[in-house]
Amino acid sequence: MNQIANKEQSMPNDQIIMAYFNKTITKQKLAHAYLFNGPKGAGQEVMAQWLAMRLFCQELRADQPCGQCRNCRRIKAGEHPDVINIKSEKATIKVDEIRLLKQEFTKSAVEGTHKILIIYRADTMTVSAQNSLLKFIEEPVGDTVIILLTENRSLLLPTIISRTQIVEFELPGFKKIEEQLKNNYQLAEVRLALRLTGDADIAQEWLTNGSITKLNNLIWRWFNVLLQGDSAAFAMVQTGFIPLLQDPELPFTANNILDSMMFIFRDLLIIEDSRQLVFEDNRQKLGILGQKIALTKRIVFVDIVLQARQDAQMNINIQTTLEALTLKILANL
Ligand SMILES: [Zn+2]
Repeated sequence: MNQIANKEQSMPNDQIIMAYFNKTITKQKLAHAYLFNGPKGAGQEVMAQWLAMRLFCQELRADQPCGQCRNCRRIKAGEHPDVINIKSEKATIKVDEIRLLKQEFTKSAVEGTHKILIIYRADTMTVSAQNSLLKFIEEPVGDTVIILLTENRSLLLPTIISRTQIVEFELPGFKKIEEQLKNNYQLAEVRLALRLTGDADIAQEWLTNGSITKLNNLIWRWFNVLLQGDSAAFAMVQTGFIPLLQDPELPFTANNILDSMMFIFRDLLIIEDSRQLVFEDNRQKLGILGQKIALTKRIVFVDIVLQARQDAQMNINIQTTLEALTLKILANL
């Protein structure tokens, strides 16, 4: 518990992720497979263990596992029968290991209602191991939750990625860089640039040459029109986002646009209880929207953007993807 509490203070991104999972668990909307991706040391392992404890803890306190009950202790020691940790000693995870695991998993939960499988360094799975796992992800047994931990998610098969909910982790050092940059630039733009690039130097460049301002402005114009239920948001894909992507002066990729949309909708999802937003400068506006739009809808919006991100990874045309995303949100408002 101490470990998690400390992390919580130093890594605000963890708070966002925990808040997301607390909501998702309360709404019983937990997905069958998650992909925790981020650089080494960014906290994926700790979060996976936290999630397991969050589901099994016998003495939850304000949505936080106690860290001390029998279940929490067994999870920390890697001894809980319904929490299976796959850590390969070798350089790669082979198909036999995944087969063993599937046998283990077809038995129903030993004690609780859930069964959790955590695969460490999932990006070292061989292609045959990944294919074997894929069938398992496609046809989950009961309330199973599979958590794949990766440092480089692009090493996974697109078919695996498209069937998981992706959660991005970042290094704790980010906070410090942010503190320095926010003296000279708008906080929301600093956060957006840092999160999109994952690199302080490139973020600084985007801030200095004003490109991030263009993206930020466009995303917000689209978001405002969209949430008014105005179908003009659909046309903005062709008149706004596509020209932005095609502008040779601007550095943006399709993923940058989808990630920015993700950040807006994630901010909207957590507006009531988080101290930190990417679009901090728009907190008031997001707060008003949060009061108007039910939480269940906000979760749906995040899912729609996640799905679009996965479509883009599967090489579906970006204009088609963004237009479909816009229509789906309009239909769900
Ligand atoms: Zn506990």
